[in-house]
Amino acid sequence: MKKNRVRRFRSPYLPIRPAIKRERLVIALEKQIKGFLFQCSMCGNCLLQETAFICPMLCPKGLRNGPCGSGVDNRCCVEPSRPCIWHLIYKQAERLNRMDRLMEIQAPLDGERVGHETWGTVLSKARERGLLSLMGVLRGRHRREEFQRLFRDLRQPDWWQGDDHYHPPASFKPVSRLQASLKRGEFVVTAEVHPPAGAGADHVQELAHQLRGRIHAANVTENPMATPRMSSLACCLLLAQNGIESVLQLTGRDYNRYFLQSEALGASILGIHNVLCLTGDPPMASRGPASGLPFDLDATQMLWILRRLRDERRFLDGRFVSEAPRYFLGAAGSPNDPDPAHEALRIEKKVNAGAQFIQTQLVYDVTTFQRWLQALDQRSLLTKVHILVGIGPLHSVKTARFLNERIPGVFVPPNLIERLERSLSPEQTGIEIALELIQQVKALPGVAGIHVMCLGHDSILPRLASLAG
Ligand code: SF4
Ligand code: SF4
Repeated sequence: MKKNRVRRFRSPYLPIRPAIKRERLVIALEKQIKGFLFQCSMCGNCLLQETAFICPMLCPKGLRNGPCGSGVDNRCCVEPSRPCIWHLIYKQAERLNRMDRLMEIQAPLDGERVGHETWGTVLSKARERGLLSLMGVLRGRHRREEFQRLFRDLRQPDWWQGDDHYHPPASFKPVSRLQASLKRGEFVVTAEVHPPAGAGADHVQELAHQLRGRIHAANVTENPMATPRMSSLACCLLLAQNGIESVLQLTGRDYNRYFLQSEALGASILGIHNVLCLTGDPPMASRGPASGLPFDLDATQMLWILRRLRDERRFLDGRFVSEAPRYFLGAAGSPNDPDPAHEALRIEKKVNAGAQFIQTQLVYDVTTFQRWLQALDQRSLLTKVHILVGIGPLHSVKTARFLNERIPGVFVPPNLIERLERSLSPEQTGIEIALELIQQVKALPGVAGIHVMCLGHDSILPRLASLAG
């Protein structure tokens, strides 16, 4: 494929407020120079200093805190002909010894600044400190720190104030049965449930009846593969009415900053306290028509917003929350990432933002999973977060191949595919493999439980949950 370095990944951002006259010249200059050097699309909230001088807005999802975990072989999941821009950022940050700069939690775009310049703003902030400190920036002993402070002011507005520290929850008192079980050290089982593609409750009620007493919580998906179904919140409520505790999924693809906060407040008052924050599958996974818009939020930003809503009782806009909501917050992990050190950095950022449990992508290769656990341990994460390992029974050779070819971040080793090929009853063999995997991961230090995904065959769930004990 012909490489065109100057071609921008996305069209330039359009300002929602017109530029004033004296700003226009700076905008035109910045657009030309940064467009040529960095393929800048003028998001107006520049992060180049923190992303090893590669523009993160080249990511089609518009992610500002790291990769989405959906890319395969370091290619972009939205446009596979291109490399994942976050993979390039990590590589360059390693080369330039700037990995620590990737840890700061970055704000979502400030729409007021979109399409406007950043150079003029940096200069006026320098001027606010007086000419002497401006000279200090250029010549002084602390010029590096001063220089960084100028850009920090720009990228960390008062309404966000992201940092690179761990923020433990304000209270460790469990808010749900799932959290209480994890705190007691029980080996927990959660199961993935897809809401019905219709307005009927029968399927959910039937499943709840079969799962009652067999799992700790049902994790209810939110529009998987960018395909609309009943909302996760409605389905969580149905399950609660039928005696099953649930985990609500919220995705950056489907929720913007306003709806996220209102939905999460509503969930808390309805008694749904387990919340899993995900960035979301790419819109191209849908049957179409696909949305072309970048995501308003990523999973890390969602965790940061919900943790502050709970612990600091503050909305994103600074208003005080009258009654603090209660959440047990979770995020996703990709143990099959070819570079566990990079993935550990991504997980640490989510834990720092507020994640209390990590639910992993499907695991079929325990050796690779162990490497990922070790990378997490090296960052002292296993004492801060509960790990739930994704387990999915394979129904057939076709399913195994489908997972390898079509589902990002999943790898079924060849020996398991051969075992299914030799089997007279592949479905039974798939369950046996799943049970073996459960026994193996259960023995690993740092594993707190499993999350069972039945890959569209919900009827297997109760049987597997029983067999797994
Ligand atoms: S982060 Fe925004 S302002 Fe900076 S180069 Fe990228 S698009 Fe341009
Ligand atoms: S959408 Fe995902 S895979 Fe594509 S560039 Fe962004 S982070 Fe990478």
